[in-house]
Amino acid sequence: MKKFIIYWFRNDLRLDDNPALNHACGLAERNGAELLTVFCHTPAYSALNSCQTKWGFARISSHRRKFLRDSLNDLRYQLHQHGFDLLELDGELSAQTELWTYIYRHYELQTIVCEEIAAPEEMAQVESLHALKLPVHTLLQSTMYAPEDFDFELVSMPDQFTAFRHKVEQGAYSIRQPATCALSNNFVLSDPGLLAFSVQMQSKEEACVEHPEQDNRSSFPYWTVEFSGGSQAALRYLESYFSTDKAHSYKQTRNQLHGTGFSTKFSPWLASGAMSAPQILAALRKFEDEQGKSDGSYWIWFELLWRDYFRFLHCKYGVQLYRASGLSKSPVSLPAFDAQKFQAWTQSKSGEPLIDAAMRELATTGYLSNRLRQQVVSYWLHELGGDWRVAAAWFESQLLDYDVYSNQGNCLYLAGLGTDPRGYLGGRWFDPQKQTKQHDADGAYRRLWNTI
Ligand SMILES: Cc1cc2nc3c(=O)[nH]c(=O)nc-3n(C[C@H](O)[C@H](O)[C@H](O)COP(=O)(O)OP(=O)(O)OC[C@H]3O[C@@H](n4cnc5c(N)ncnc54)[C@H](O)[C@@H]3O)c2cc1C
Repeated sequence: MKKFIIYWFRNDLRLDDNPALNHACGLAERNGAELLTVFCHTPAYSALNSCQTKWGFARISSHRRKFLRDSLNDLRYQLHQHGFDLLELDGELSAQTELWTYIYRHYELQTIVCEEIAAPEEMAQVESLHALKLPVHTLLQSTMYAPEDFDFELVSMPDQFTAFRHKVEQGAYSIRQPATCALSNNFVLSDPGLLAFSVQMQSKEEACVEHPEQDNRSSFPYWTVEFSGGSQAALRYLESYFSTDKAHSYKQTRNQLHGTGFSTKFSPWLASGAMSAPQILAALRKFEDEQGKSDGSYWIWFELLWRDYFRFLHCKYGVQLYRASGLSKSPVSLPAFDAQKFQAWTQSKSGEPLIDAAMRELATTGYLSNRLRQQVVSYWLHELGGDWRVAAAWFESQLLDYDVYSNQGNCLYLAGLGTDPRGYLGGRWFDPQKQTKQHDADGAYRRLWNTI
């Protein structure tokens, strides 16, 4: 019987610098096995299945769905260059009963390899494969730093970001070097019976993906060639970003509200995995070697470390980060859902022009600056007295760059239920009037989104 290995793409939609994919290639080579590359449209995010949150809105917006669709098409194109195809499946991998029956009739499945995502829903997906006695090998690979290079265990990592950062800086750990793709034609599995599981599904899925309105005010116009989904655009963008001197002014501009150039705009590609954090770091270090270091270039690393931090915090605390009370040691009583307030917040009818403008930008384009993300969530928590989990769910639904770790981590942090010692709603209040004066004194942003 032919041996084969499944590589399951998750939030790592790229071929280069994909250690888990390379691990699968290594296994295929050593065991004389073939390789099948798959992607699953899980029920939460499938275009064929409009999954709702318990608060009555879709779990994924048309913006992210379109960006994901483009990313998958790009991945398929690149796989084709190596002789592979991408098998797109409808539903969880564990729920593919017909596929498993077919596979076991014709093949000897050696293992399923995928990236590890240390968040509850994603871990449950892997667990459901284990429950079927399917062999799975996972690899945590979405960070800049590999935890095995640290001289401390993640269970004892410092809780506060600043202490964590000092530890990383003192350790002077090196960052994983981006690896090149190890796919080889020798592993190609071209079984028409298997590919048939995909063809019909892929065209049905593609037909269901909406084409949202393209608003030229967007700070991340993903329908243009420059900002489109997939690793080809991501790597072109990365190169072009560091061919300018924008990195030097990043620290001064990063808190601005609007435009394509004030911050790096790496996040949507990082979230889909079209671009990896080590690829960014390699480009950043090359830039520093050629153009010198600056506060700006340091600050890009600093912000990417926040991204790593929330990932490692997930490894340390796991499901505790998903409790209503987060990491709080004492019980927290969260407010009941108020549909009117929620509508006012999400439909830009709160009466606070800066907040209304920001919520309009988010819904219209799928992107929002970091500063405004902080402000709108603070407004929901403090002024509207909302439940932090509703804000996290709304952001999940709306953001092009939705990333389970960064979204949960930031929302908990703002609510005071993460590692901030000030406790529930104890800090992180953004005074809307003060913020407006500081960041939109001339009203340009509010006028752009028609709220003044
Ligand atoms: C309530 C809230 C929810 C958020 N949800 C997400 C999310 O779902 N996905 C996401 O990628 N980011 C999230 N962020 C973090 C941050 O707002 C975005 O990463 C950033 O705005 C993306 O734009 P950029 O790539 O131009 O960022 P830049 O300012 O150019 O930063 C460079 C990179 O550093 C990382 N980074 C920057 N700030 C943060 C941060 N606070 N936390 C973690 N990583 C950071 C990102 O990977 C980003 O691409 C959230 C922030 C808040 C306050």
